Amino acid sequence: MKIPDNTSHIETAAARKTGRSANPDPSVDLTTMELVQVMVLGWYAVHARRFVWRVPNPDPYVVLVSETMLQQTQTARVQEKLPVFLEQFPDFSALAATDNATIIRAWQGMGYNNRALRLRDCARAVVERFGGVLPDTADDLRSLPGLGPYTVSAILSFAFHRDVVVLDVNIRRLYSRLFLQLTTTLEVMPQSLLLHVASEVYPRGHSSEWHQACMDIAAQYCTARSPRCLLCPIAKACRSAFRLAEAVPPRVSEPSHRGKPNRIWRGRIVEILRGLPPGQTMGLTELRSRLFPIEEETDGPWLEHIVAALERDGLIDRGEAANSIRLRS
Ligand code: SF4
Repeated sequence: MKIPDNTSHIETAAARKTGRSANPDPSVDLTTMELVQVMVLGWYAVHARRFVWRVPNPDPYVVLVSETMLQQTQTARVQEKLPVFLEQFPDFSALAATDNATIIRAWQGMGYNNRALRLRDCARAVVERFGGVLPDTADDLRSLPGLGPYTVSAILSFAFHRDVVVLDVNIRRLYSRLFLQLTTTLEVMPQSLLLHVASEVYPRGHSSEWHQACMDIAAQYCTARSPRCLLCPIAKACRSAFRLAEAVPPRVSEPSHRGKPNRIWRGRIVEILRGLPPGQTMGLTELRSRLFPIEEETDGPWLEHIVAALERDGLIDRGEAANSIRLRS
């Protein structure tokens, strides 16, 4: 398929002929699409990464749990934690019935504890509104708490084998380099063009394998900073192959205290509270001295601020004793 440059009327005719929608940007070369599909799926059939959540007909519950874990945790850690989590919470009913403290304990080592609470709340909604069975339509999935566009599309594709676009930051990077002639590792395709390319490129009937294959290639070869074009299985079809100069992203400062981001401190506080016997609380003074053996003047107000945020996020409760806290149960 060839989509001509700068000739929108011919482009429309070509699109009619091929059944594809018109390419909104003639600088994007989609002529290699069929070749790319064969290369990607052929490579995946032999070299797919083996994970415990990748089975031919995965349980939708397992897809939801694994996708939630994978959002901010590395695959190796999820590979280790997922079976343990599923042993403790084998289905929506078991997960829905758990309290905050138990689910946060079970999430230990995964980071970003809010995800655990959102996952449990989602399980409760699935039990209450859908009889413990994950719905298989985009509208119903979107109505569940905590499910964003990526998770909804991943569930539809990976669990229900629907023909849908799945887009995350890694697939965006891969498509950008594959179909545009880029020169630095920081450049990416504009969002509107990306949506067009993403909806055109995946082979119908193979959304699940295609998107998981793209994730594997992006993770192993087309990495953010140092693409390994020499070894890449789709280099022959890639417009940016061997052209990308490494560019360093500008540093984004995040809220921190004593040189560490607040999100690290939040994790530490939850870890300390997780170690308390059930029902026991800890005073803020003790917590502060556990965090900072040598205190500084700014520690107190900063800790109040972090504790208030954890409380707002539903991770901790105030105890009966003044200035005491515990994991919310
Ligand atoms: S050839 Fe290089 S730039 Fe192109 S997809 Fe492979 S790793 Fe990425």
